[in-house]
Amino acid sequence: MGGPDAAAQPGAGWDEAQCTAALARLEELQAQIDNLRLAIPRIIEPFHRPPNPMTYKLYAQGVIGSQKGLEALKSQWMQHETQSVFEHVKKSFSADANLSESVTMPSHGWRERARKARESIKKTEGDSVEDIGATLTDEHLSQIIADFSQTHPNLKMEIRDDKRSILVRFLSGCVTLKFRIRIEREANGRHKLNAQCLGTTEPFLAITRCVASRPHTNDLKDLLDMIAAYKTVEGTSCAKCGKLLDNSAMTPTARRNKQIDSTGGAAKTTWEAFHEDCLE
Ligand SMILES: [Zn+2]
Repeated sequence: MGGPDAAAQPGAGWDEAQCTAALARLEELQAQIDNLRLAIPRIIEPFHRPPNPMTYKLYAQGVIGSQKGLEALKSQWMQHETQSVFEHVKKSFSADANLSESVTMPSHGWRERARKARESIKKTEGDSVEDIGATLTDEHLSQIIADFSQTHPNLKMEIRDDKRSILVRFLSGCVTLKFRIRIEREANGRHKLNAQCLGTTEPFLAITRCVASRPHTNDLKDLLDMIAAYKTVEGTSCAKCGKLLDNSAMTPTARRNKQIDSTGGAAKTTWEAFHEDCLE
């Protein structure tokens, strides 16, 4: 910032998001000022009507409302963020007083644009958490499967349909659980994971629902670990309510992990059992 090249550009040193936020702030001030233009008409309007019991009340409302509007404008004006916009404008203008480019800029809609920009940032951040391993290469897939079979030699795994389908089968307590994972590839290289606990009765249906509501939808390693947790965390009571059976006499059909700090200081993942109704 501050180099001769940077100073020659309008908005120098500010990225698009900062400029949009600043314009949104100015638009908000403009709206407050526009609203205050109506202060006098609002105050005197009650006197244009025949006198009635409401006259004084409406007059008082007009005065107080306008005072509040003025105070809000003052406080917004004095805010550090607003002042730094003015400061930036001054600097930018003294570096380059040619405002012809600004003609092409819309004068309204900045509050809306700033809101959308904030939402899309939030969404992108959400996606990046969601899509760990979202572009799953064949090598990566083979690696995840190899690591998993090594960690869980007692879980039977079958890979089918050119690695588009994974079948995991094991005994959990006295029931055999079978899970099928389907990997749906999309044209952009991303993938979606569909998982199902095979069976047309409970608890299999509940298990399918609980797996489907997993937080990291497209993380294959996380999904396989969750499936394995139906063997390793078996027959225990619910981590939320502490009971073995819930009100519908169902055992905990969900598995969720949590990070715990182990003695070495490194975070360790453990899996816990939950009733379907005890999931957040
Ligand atoms: Zn519970």
